[in-house]
Amino acid sequence: MNIPDIQPYIEGVLRHDRRMISKTITLIESALPEHKKMARLVIDQLLPHTGKAIRLGITGVPGAGKSTFIEALGMMLVKKGYTVAVLAVDPSSVRSGGSVLADKTRMERLSTQENAFIRPSPSGGTLGGVASKTRETMLVCEAAGFDVMIVETLGSGQSEVAVASMVDFFLMLMISGAGDELQGIKKGILELVDAIAVNKADGDNVQRAAFARKQFETALHFSPPPSPNWTPPVLTCSSVESTGVEEIWNVVLKHREKMTETGELELKREKQALDWMWFLVREGIAEWFYRNPYVKTMIPKVEKEVEEGTTAPTTAADKLLFFLEDK
Ligand code: GDP
Repeated sequence: MNIPDIQPYIEGVLRHDRRMISKTITLIESALPEHKKMARLVIDQLLPHTGKAIRLGITGVPGAGKSTFIEALGMMLVKKGYTVAVLAVDPSSVRSGGSVLADKTRMERLSTQENAFIRPSPSGGTLGGVASKTRETMLVCEAAGFDVMIVETLGSGQSEVAVASMVDFFLMLMISGAGDELQGIKKGILELVDAIAVNKADGDNVQRAAFARKQFETALHFSPPPSPNWTPPVLTCSSVESTGVEEIWNVVLKHREKMTETGELELKREKQALDWMWFLVREGIAEWFYRNPYVKTMIPKVEKEVEEGTTAPTTAADKLLFFLEDK
């Protein structure tokens, strides 16, 4: 690979050239082996320029108001002088009440702002693949100098865990419902959140939102906090009226201050990077294993033996795993 091949990408991103930022992200998303190689080299070169942004993850079920909230928050941040990059869930991948939301324009106002950059999250492929691309896209935006990175995720267990493991602050957007607000929350997710915001606290919904807030406060009380120095607060907001949004941002800043002060932010990022490396190693091992020609021919044979009861599962697993030693 010639270094000049990747130079325009690196320089373009560092120059904050929007076209080159987009092209670099497209390179990252490409499945072509040559592009993957190039993307890796680009990321390596950009890495020293990353790490300065505030990384914010936002989750919530479809309809909770994520895109409306991100637009309200993004507009507020842009007005304050921040540059904001958003990795938004691709609306064509979202189903709500049976209908695809593809025709819905998301974050219309924010997308016209010069200091905002909105990109649909990479989709397709394995969760690991998607998470990998999301992480790298985030790094590209950081290297391009965006102050705030917002990563949106759907409220579906696995992707929430993946996003929580790449951000500094994980916000859960909820709405008040029929009374039992906690039912929709998947097990273990509460432990990941740094704050909950009950959205749509407007009109005749204000009371219900306040009630939901109390319920979440109680639930969080029984859930282990993400840090000994941080108790996740529950707030209410209205994304359409842009009320309570500034308070949420202040919580993000307060959290950052605290985590920086205690050194936890740095530790968290170090741990996230290491966890990520090991995740990739595990994925790589699995991929390498399944690609091996010997394993490929052995699998149907060994599976049959296990089904028929002629080989014990333990022995069968050994046969597959230690194929190199056996041969
Ligand atoms: P997402 O699927 O989580 O991104 O949700 P959307 O942002 O698309 O919002 C779903 C619906 O809820 C839309 O019709 C929004 O206009 C509405 N909505 C979002 N935020 C609020 C809010 O704060 N108050 C009210 N009343 N409606 C809201």
